[in-house]
Amino acid sequence: MALSGIQIYKLLPQTNCKECGFPTCLAFAMKLAAKQVELSACPYVSDESKAKLAESAAPPIRLVTLKSNGYEVKAGNEVVLFRHEKTFYHKPGLFVRVDAASAAEEIKALVAPADAYATNYVGIDLKLDGFAVDASSGAVTPEKFAAAVSAVREASHMPLVLISRDPAVMAAGLRAVDGEHPLVNAADAENWEAMAALARQHQAALVVTAGTLDELAELTEKVKAKGVEDLVLDPSARDLSGSLILSTQIRRLALKKNFKALGYPLIAFPKTPAAAAQAIAKYAGFVVLDRFAPELAYPLLVLRQNIYTDPQKPIQVQPGLYEINNPSPSDPVLVTTNFSITYFSVANEVESSGLAAWLLVTDAEGMSVLTAWAAGKFDSERIAKAVKTFGVPEKTNRKQVVLPGHVAVLSGELEGELPGWEIRVGPREAVDIPKFMKQAL
Ligand code: SF4
Repeated sequence: MALSGIQIYKLLPQTNCKECGFPTCLAFAMKLAAKQVELSACPYVSDESKAKLAESAAPPIRLVTLKSNGYEVKAGNEVVLFRHEKTFYHKPGLFVRVDAASAAEEIKALVAPADAYATNYVGIDLKLDGFAVDASSGAVTPEKFAAAVSAVREASHMPLVLISRDPAVMAAGLRAVDGEHPLVNAADAENWEAMAALARQHQAALVVTAGTLDELAELTEKVKAKGVEDLVLDPSARDLSGSLILSTQIRRLALKKNFKALGYPLIAFPKTPAAAAQAIAKYAGFVVLDRFAPELAYPLLVLRQNIYTDPQKPIQVQPGLYEINNPSPSDPVLVTTNFSITYFSVANEVESSGLAAWLLVTDAEGMSVLTAWAAGKFDSERIAKAVKTFGVPEKTNRKQVVLPGHVAVLSGELEGELPGWEIRVGPREAVDIPKFMKQAL
């Protein structure tokens, strides 16, 4: 049972020393009860109190980690319902389904391109996370399942989800990846004891599935009593509205009611791109895609990246002087901020135009041009400092910089900061930069 803020307060030192970052022990206790801080932030809690507080300090959704050959996929440990309340921490693992009934060569031909698939989005490398070997077509023997798992392993070292309700088939699959930490899918009302024994024996995480939330909660308690802690929930709904409702109810019960029996990450088996997008947003920890195709993987990876980016920490690039299309000292110097999307918008436009330029990226604390200017983080002083710090006078001979059109107002001040330099005002939008460079520079 979760402790209230007052109950937690009684277990704290009550000295109000403020070392935890809060003005009083009571304020800290309230935040701890709301799962918004870690108990370790107070260095003075006694061991006896720590034991009593352990349940309250535990994350409301258990962290489950799948491992293989140096790869890891983590899900859980989330503390909010909505991203804007704080942030989401562990991106859902994206797995590609492989039919275990297929021939080994067919499996390898499917797995290899998905394993190799990688894309770059605003400077971040994005990849899929693993494969789900599926014996649920019914015609798969233990030997066939083990052979299918081994075929996947020959083409990829990424973590696995093993899918079968038959404990004998599952045992064969697990033996094929002994020493790894895969995800066993799934324990149900019929097979849970055998599946729990297998998961414990192979140190695997275990999916628990049932038709209702009551049955699901009852089953997780039974499996946990058998010594399996790393559980994942499959609430069985496969349609868009049903899965959204159940996923939201489970998340809400875990976070708001601290209902431990449902405090585990979820797995989803979307059959359409829309269902996959919904699962990423609400609230799957593992998503098994029916097939691999780059045009499906890319938008899902980008969506996941955007949802799991901390809204309070913009994606940034390193400030500096970047070369585009191998510029010479006489090529123009364009100025922008270090907000990742701003940087890539400008860099991509110039690069694809084939024109050579220097791109001076100023430290604006990761904000876009107008936001940074309004916040006082992108001004003439910072730009002049960047010109000197990153060696623009040594690397170029033009004595000219081009400001983004949105901050034309800075041109007069910048002339004062950089005497003898010509300050030009470029277009407002990145898409217009190539035309501006051809016509005006
Ligand atoms: S660090 Fe501990 S003792 Fe000090 S104010 Fe915070 S909760 Fe109280």
